[in-house]
Amino acid sequence: MLLKNCRIVKDNKIIEGDILINDNGVIEKIAKDIKVDDETIDIRGYLVIPGVIDAHVHFRWGEEEKEDFLSGSLAGINGGVCFAIDMPNNKPPIATKQLFYKKLKDCKRYSKINVFLNFGVTEKNYFEIIEEAKAYKIFMVKSVGDLFIEDYSKLKDILNQNKVFCIHAEHKDIINENLKKYSLNSWTDHCKIRDKKSEVEAVKEVIKNLRIIDKYNDKKPHIHFCHISTKEALYLIKKAKKDLKNIRITVEATPHHIYLNKDMAEELKGFGKFNPPLRDKDDNIALIKGIINRDVDIIASDHAPHLLEDKLKDVKNCPSGIPGIETIVPLTLNLVNKKLITLFDAIRVLSQNPAKIFDINNKIEEDNLANLTIIDLKKEGKINVELFKSKAKFSPFDKWEVKGFPIYTVVNGKVYEAYGFYY
Ligand SMILES: [Zn+2]
Repeated sequence: MLLKNCRIVKDNKIIEGDILINDNGVIEKIAKDIKVDDETIDIRGYLVIPGVIDAHVHFRWGEEEKEDFLSGSLAGINGGVCFAIDMPNNKPPIATKQLFYKKLKDCKRYSKINVFLNFGVTEKNYFEIIEEAKAYKIFMVKSVGDLFIEDYSKLKDILNQNKVFCIHAEHKDIINENLKKYSLNSWTDHCKIRDKKSEVEAVKEVIKNLRIIDKYNDKKPHIHFCHISTKEALYLIKKAKKDLKNIRITVEATPHHIYLNKDMAEELKGFGKFNPPLRDKDDNIALIKGIINRDVDIIASDHAPHLLEDKLKDVKNCPSGIPGIETIVPLTLNLVNKKLITLFDAIRVLSQNPAKIFDINNKIEEDNLANLTIIDLKKEGKINVELFKSKAKFSPFDKWEVKGFPIYTVVNGKVYEAYGFYY
């Protein structure tokens, strides 16, 4: 396969050339004017960026009515995503070696993109080492079954390991106190119950323990904070990144926390219900600033499909979470077109940084598997949930006019069209 007339983004430079991919999906040659007798696609000068990595998805293994590895990965292709990291909060949770490898088998069998799995940390299993786990996920608030750390005093031991930990930081005690104060009658109440303080205090709790661990001589963890949604938490982490010399800390933000806020809660109804919840306009701005000044390391979607009928229920019965793998790339490119971030910022948070954090090789180089996201930065369109490949055909961004879309997704050398979801 020959991709002609590419504008390849490499190390923050744009180079023009052709990409020759051999039958094993490996990039054989990158050069100007390659002449071969092979199937050819004219890329017509569109940008070729290192394959996008969505480091936070829920493909709902075992709940096929919501999503499965096939539908989730086809949604990835549709959205320009070549790699995804799937979370362990399945039913039952992926907290044993046996379940992990059972899930991995299905993952490898059905996924059309490269999907990696995280292992779920509990108070009992935290010394378990799973060779093929991308990272270890810690929930500080109840998720599925016993998949959460209820006793925060254990965090010092849990985190004192040479592992990558992805942390869902919402403080259980703050949420429980709020549950006594507020009843859940409106969509805004959901934001009040899981308020900013619950994120801030959870982050403080983690950092407090990291300060102790930082002084030990060995077993330094890498802490990745999932879906940070508040200005205050972002500031605390920024400070900790500076102070803690031996611990690597990274931050993830989602497009929905960047674009949406509490003022929209009643209008969005169930499509605005997720955890952490909608915050303020100030927080939207802080996250965008965070991308520019590198306090936010990556954007991930927290793709969390549910049945539409459940998302249409009242606030008490509506589950939290929205699909996002098909909108992460256009929504991020849209920030570029709005001149809020640069193209290189977008590529850093979608491709380069997640590759570094999770040790994924998506470099556009000879002898590497071809995992490429090809984008039309000028393409304008309307997000249309009916064209989603995800089983979850809803989104708070439905009918939004955005600029910047993926047009091809190349996964391990296989070229797919990526533009099925907008007019
Ligand atoms: Zn999640």
